Amino acid sequence: MQSYGMGLLRLDSHGSNLMLIRISELIGDHGGTRAMLRKLIVGPYQANCYILGCNETREGLVIDPGDDVLRIAGELSRNRLMILYILITHGHFDHVGGAAELRRITKAPVLIHALDSPVLNFEADGHLSDGQVLHVGTYDISVIHTPGHSPGGVSFHAPGVVFTGDALFAGSIGRTDFPGGSHEQLIQEVRAKIFPLGDNIRVYPGHGPSSTIGRERLYNPFFRMRHTM
Ligand SMILES: [Zn+2]
Ligand SMILES: [Zn+2]
Repeated sequence: MQSYGMGLLRLDSHGSNLMLIRISELIGDHGGTRAMLRKLIVGPYQANCYILGCNETREGLVIDPGDDVLRIAGELSRNRLMILYILITHGHFDHVGGAAELRRITKAPVLIHALDSPVLNFEADGHLSDGQVLHVGTYDISVIHTPGHSPGGVSFHAPGVVFTGDALFAGSIGRTDFPGGSHEQLIQEVRAKIFPLGDNIRVYPGHGPSSTIGRERLYNPFFRMRHTM
C-alpha cells in the first residue's frame, strides 16, 4: 500500500474520527459563517469523506462517501443539511463504496467523471467534467479533471479549499500502478491545475491530514524532485 498509513489519522483525543473545521479556515475573510466543512474518516482504508454545507440555506454536498454511511447520514441530520450532490473524486471503492446507499437515504444524485464511471457497481446519476461548476447554497464548487491516479480522477475547488481525492496528499501523491494510472500525468496535472489555485488554498486530500498548496508546492518530495522514485 501507499504511504497513507494508519498512523497518521489520530485526529482527536476522543476516539472519534470526526473533525470540525471552522468556516474562517474554509473560505477565508469573505465567508463569514456561511459554510461548514466536516471530515469523517470512513472504512478500512481510512478514506476522508467530506461534508460541505451552507449555514444560510442548509444546502450541502458530500464528497466520497466511501463507507460508514449511517455515520455520514447522522452528521447530515444533526446539521440539518439537505444534500444536493454526492460527488466522487474517483471510482476506487474506498471513496465510492457507500455512495449508492447514501443516495437511497438522501435522494441526492451521485456524480463522477465519465472515465471512472465504468468501474462502479451501480449506475451514477450524472457525469462530472473539467470546468463544470456546481452551486450549493451561497457558494460554487468547480470540477478540475486531475487524472493519473485513475483516468477519471477529479478535484473539487471551493472558495479557499481544494479536495484532491487520491491525486495529491500532504507530502505525497496517489499510487499510479492501477489500470489507467500514470505517474507523469499525475505530476503534470497537479502542477498545471492545482498549484495555480494559490499557495494559501487549503488542500483536503482523500486520505490523511490536510495541507496547503504552498506547503505541497515547496516541500512535497514528488514535486521538489524532477525524477521519479
Ligand atoms: Zn484511489
Ligand atoms: Zn483512496
